[in-house]
Amino acid sequence: MKTAPVLHYPQPKLRTRAETVGASFFRSKELHELLTIMIATMQKLRGIGLAATQIDVHKQIAVIELQDAPLVVINPTIRNPSKRLEVDEEGCLSVPGVFGHVNRAASLSLTAFDEAGAQYSLKARGLFARVIQHEVDHLHGHLFLDRCHLLTSGLDQAKKLSLEIPPLRRS
Ligand code: ZN
Repeated sequence: MKTAPVLHYPQPKLRTRAETVGASFFRSKELHELLTIMIATMQKLRGIGLAATQIDVHKQIAVIELQDAPLVVINPTIRNPSKRLEVDEEGCLSVPGVFGHVNRAASLSLTAFDEAGAQYSLKARGLFARVIQHEVDHLHGHLFLDRCHLLTSGLDQAKKLSLEIPPLRRS
């Protein structure tokens, strides 16, 4: 299966704001091929989500795979994020080897489009809500590092990247 190279931090292209997908792109061969490559890339690297931004395609497209079939997320909008935040460990295929604590809304609603251009809405909580927020962040040029307040592992790698995030002290 064809895969694509993933951009790694600090590649500036990761800061690009992705463009909205236009009506003519839905149901196209190009979109289908892009999604096939994105899903294969995510699965090869054992990720649970991938944004098009990460393979240098700056369109509002992400794929998420937690359990069942991959979820295609196009032109996403997050609605009603809970005021209640949850902290958990995050990593990113674009920042290999670095993991840290990030606060995210505990639950939210997502409105997006599928490959055929059909709009759908769903409610997500916990890890699913976290991955949605992480991927939508990518589409806006944000990385989990921007929101990370504590490193949990990968301190050596973080030092190489000159990240100024304090490490978690484990007792
Ligand atoms: Zn990521």
